[in-house]
Amino acid sequence: MSTEAILKIDRVSKKYEECEALREVSFSVNKGELVVILGPSGSGKSTLLMCIAGFVKPDSGDIILDGKRINDVPPYRRNVGVVFQSMALFPNMNVFDNIAYPLKIRKLPKDEIKKKVERMLEIVGLAGLGSRRITQLSGGQQQRVAIARTLVFEPSILLLDEPLGALDRKLREEMQGEIKKIHDRVGATTLLVTHDQEEAMTMGDRILVINGGRIEQMGTPEEIYNDPKTLFVSEFIGTTNIFNGVAVKKDGRTVFKSVEGVILPLAKEAKGEGHVSIKAEHIKLFGNRPKDDIFALEAIVAQNFFSGNFIKYELDLEGTIIKAIDRDPKQVFKQGQKVYMKVTPENVRWFPK
Ligand code: ADP
Repeated sequence: MSTEAILKIDRVSKKYEECEALREVSFSVNKGELVVILGPSGSGKSTLLMCIAGFVKPDSGDIILDGKRINDVPPYRRNVGVVFQSMALFPNMNVFDNIAYPLKIRKLPKDEIKKKVERMLEIVGLAGLGSRRITQLSGGQQQRVAIARTLVFEPSILLLDEPLGALDRKLREEMQGEIKKIHDRVGATTLLVTHDQEEAMTMGDRILVINGGRIEQMGTPEEIYNDPKTLFVSEFIGTTNIFNGVAVKKDGRTVFKSVEGVILPLAKEAKGEGHVSIKAEHIKLFGNRPKDDIFALEAIVAQNFFSGNFIKYELDLEGTIIKAIDRDPKQVFKQGQKVYMKVTPENVRWFPK
């Protein structure tokens, strides 16, 4: 992967009647990178992808691919490959002919087509299956044919719009690994859209978090997870508890006081109204009141969900439900049991209003 930007999106906006689908979106993608566009339904992900593919025209801003502004270039003349959730393979053609199709349209010589298609079959792990009918393939194999058909004409960028959305969980996870492998083998610059944060985390070199048509944050999965820049990112990624309240000074140190009256320690100076977020796995649970922590909070276990290597808890803190995850369970706290929650100030993230 290089640091050379192959795609540059510069202050792109798009409005559908009253709906601002994209608001001044700017970012760039480096050659060979796999960037995941992550956001809830209706956040503008597809609109962004369609602007790059050329099926939607932005109202303002520039889209620059390979150093050229492509806003006015029609979709079929952009060197962009698009794979949608509904793959639209040709069911009456075999695997080979499906993958060969874009090359036939481009009128490449027969022997060159054969070479390229066979190389693609190998890359996507379907070597030897060229003569199979599409209908004789599993969902995951069909998905790989769709990707091969798009990669075969060597687009400058590959756009994947929720390509795994229709697959069941197991196949989906398998295909996440497959797509990553294909990406590593071909080195194709890829933009992948998903609303699934786990998928984004496992697949992305970088993740672009979008909400309400605006970029909330762009960074590596580690940055997005460990250092969320906005309350939205903090809440959207992982299992997170959010409190609304004020930061105040108490006995010489800065604390957060939620509207429910929960007091939490803050690591840095803060003042005024705002929110704090705490990741579920940052809440440590004890059966007895920890002596070293004046901020330990007493709660009752409302629910516990045992999932093998971790336990999820819902804790009742005087009527407020707190989510906690114990990834290294040495004991299981039972429903109705009294527990003490401890969280270090560094793990209480402050977001001023
Ligand atoms: P996502 O892919 O994140 O679900 P979209 O890009 O599809 O989001 O949509 C962003 C916003 O634009 C949504 O509020 C959606 O309702 C609206 N929108 C999308 N396409 C159209 C359209 N053709 N006409 C009107 N509104 C649209």
